[in-house]
Amino acid sequence: MASAKAAIHWFRKGLRLHDNPALLEAIKQCENIYPVFIIDPWFAREEFVGKRRYQFLLESLSDLDRSLRERKSRLYVAKGKPEDVLPQLFRKWSISLLTFENDTEPYARKRDSAIRSLAEGLNVSVKSFTSHTLFDPEHLLFLNKDQVPGTYKSFCSLVKGVKVELPLEAPAQISNHIPVKDEAGEYDVPTLLDMGYKEIVGPPTPFRGGESEGLKRLRMHMNNKRYIAEFEKPKTKPNSLEPSTTVLSPYLKFGCVSSRLFYHELLSVYKQVKSHSQPPVSLVGQLYFREWFYLNGYGVPNFDKMIGNPRCVQIPWIENAEHLEAWEKGTTGFPFIDAIMTQLKTEGWIHHLARHMVACFLTRGDLFISWEEGAKVFSRYLLDADWSLNTANWQWLSASAFFHQYFRVYGPVSFGKKTDKNGDYIRKYLPVLKKMPHKYIYEPWTAPLHVQKAAGCIVGKDYPEPIVDHKIVSKRNIGWMAEAYRKKKAMKQGKGGKSAKAKKNPAKRPSNSNLDGFVVRKK
Ligand code: FAD
Repeated sequence: MASAKAAIHWFRKGLRLHDNPALLEAIKQCENIYPVFIIDPWFAREEFVGKRRYQFLLESLSDLDRSLRERKSRLYVAKGKPEDVLPQLFRKWSISLLTFENDTEPYARKRDSAIRSLAEGLNVSVKSFTSHTLFDPEHLLFLNKDQVPGTYKSFCSLVKGVKVELPLEAPAQISNHIPVKDEAGEYDVPTLLDMGYKEIVGPPTPFRGGESEGLKRLRMHMNNKRYIAEFEKPKTKPNSLEPSTTVLSPYLKFGCVSSRLFYHELLSVYKQVKSHSQPPVSLVGQLYFREWFYLNGYGVPNFDKMIGNPRCVQIPWIENAEHLEAWEKGTTGFPFIDAIMTQLKTEGWIHHLARHMVACFLTRGDLFISWEEGAKVFSRYLLDADWSLNTANWQWLSASAFFHQYFRVYGPVSFGKKTDKNGDYIRKYLPVLKKMPHKYIYEPWTAPLHVQKAAGCIVGKDYPEPIVDHKIVSKRNIGWMAEAYRKKKAMKQGKGGKSAKAKKNPAKRPSNSNLDGFVVRKK
């Protein structure tokens, strides 16, 4: 077979040189390799990708460019719709091969299928590989007769005998092609301002983007064998001042770190210790959640919606713009909720149980607002925002899918106290409450006025009143959830509408005004 001369390796996720089978294939087949990243206007919208994640992406691209230059190559960053950009580059550089990593998200699948036909029409062959996840979702579906496993346990049984490929080494050299001088400016990595974003105000996020940073973080954790061996997710703290989990998520999301490398490094540590934790609580267990949710995203129709999603309980959520805004802005009057939302917006990462807390509060716990609204806000601010993982976890927390014990509600006052009695986390992210005695820090509205005055924080003036009475709304919401579940059961039994019990005692469709238990905020 005649070897193709020039190839484009198209980086999308997978922003790394290690464990990159598609890049290696391009190098194997061609002499000249053009590593390309395309800034697609579909993603480059601030309401969709917040500036901190954008910054993380740009840092990852700069790091990739640096690593490529060390190998006498470079990254070509182009702007525009891939369907428009790629054919131009095919012609310009006489490309005969296009390689990329498979992407299972709906937008990417549609995009890639269009690119495949386009490339074929221009005599460019296309090769793609699975390397974003441990397993190939298509293969797992094949093994499971086209069914997405309904439980974590059944997912673990399914993958038990499936091999996770060993990660591949980064190439020592990329190509014989030396970057052309006059192209330098045109395809350079842009800045946030070039992309129409405003500058980030305040300190940058503590997590910098890129393969080098990601691998450094991975090594740091792997050197702490005890931490890896004893890791039990539920025992980690949502409100520790330094992260209690790995914070590898942004690096896995952008593919700066390969999940297969992470997995095999974990196995290697496990081999060196006497005993280690197990799924679901271990770190391998966390990676299995990632895999299971990717499979759900791939195999469940309308996965990111309630309507039309066969696995999702249909719940009559409330529309309440004022409450949604208070939650997003961190002005609910519940310090633990507001501190978490402040950390989310200023740092772009929050602990898993902190995500539990605010997601439960927004949905079935307190505000009874749709998980779809919450997922949109998370996807704007999280560095690690990931279509499959964000969607699945929001469904979990709102007891819409995966988890069904809707009567187990997180208390916005009690939950944080379990691991941070003094409220140091709240003091860090909400300095207005810095001097509030620990007795009142989780519920400052209960502090006598003289205490509030002494703390320099008057509730209703310096810090908001709580927007709901948790005790009342959480009980009411459990009733509404019970009704939604009764309805689902009746439908499953083929009775169509409401069950006999529900007919006798129907839960009212929530209205926006006059909601029991909603505290009217003092103007
Ligand atoms: P670690 O505990 O160190 O786990 C290691 C890796 O395992 C993570 O980096 C992640 O890739 C994977 N993982 C861990 N927990 C989960 C989980 N519950 N589901 C799937 N994969 C997991 N994670 C995202 O990466 N992107 C999201 O958009 C996202 N949205 C979420 C929304 C809600 C409402 C909730 C409750 C959770 C969400 N998660 C999301 C899952 C989880 O909170 C994060 O993956 C985790 O907190 C990231 O921190 P870490 O890297 O320190 O995790």
